[in-house]
Amino acid sequence: MIFRQLFEPTASAYTYLLACEDTREALLIDPVSEMVDRDLALLDELGLTLKYTVETHLHADHVTGASRLREKTGAKVALPEASGAAGADLAVREGEPIVAGTLRLEPLHVPGHTDDHHAYVVRTADGLRVFTGDALMIDGCGRTDFQNGDAATLYRSVHDKIFTLPDETLVYPGHDYQQRRVSSIGQEKARNPRLGGRKTVEEFVAIMAELNLPRPRKMDIAVPANRQCGAGMLA
Ligand code: FE
Repeated sequence: MIFRQLFEPTASAYTYLLACEDTREALLIDPVSEMVDRDLALLDELGLTLKYTVETHLHADHVTGASRLREKTGAKVALPEASGAAGADLAVREGEPIVAGTLRLEPLHVPGHTDDHHAYVVRTADGLRVFTGDALMIDGCGRTDFQNGDAATLYRSVHDKIFTLPDETLVYPGHDYQQRRVSSIGQEKARNPRLGGRKTVEEFVAIMAELNLPRPRKMDIAVPANRQCGAGMLA
């Protein structure tokens, strides 16, 4: 598998490029509108054809590059069915893999940060990777106070689904505000200060209730734009 982890500094957002070495078909997980030119240059440099853009959820802090990438490459836009967004080409559902060549992205429905949130598992010869979006981050997790977020639901999603993956599974988050890049299931189970150790659902709900985070700066732009797969953000 061809693999690149890409960073957008304004939202501290990671985009992931995955591609099949045989067919040269590629997927981009959570592309960012402002970084489409970078992504197109990378696809070109590596000789890849973009088959799908894939969203983990409807983002509140940045606009997806999905529509721009579709316009430029003909890629299909895949996003969770529950997001209610207009203009997608593929409705993501758990149990229905997204395929590019020999690459299979297995969606796991993990609501709690948002109600539409999916993580994606990829199994290759060198092991498992899970792209956790904002459900599970390195030593943290996404907020649960808007977009139908719910802390108890997120706790169940992480414990019942993500944490049941093997300990050696590599964890690639949707954001990291300290530019940490990768963790593992074993590490997050052991030391995630919100969800790991022996934290109970009651303790997690109390931690999340006390965060008092400001609204994301771009929320009033990003949420409506992402409901159209980022269309109209073509600057
Ligand atoms: Fe998010």
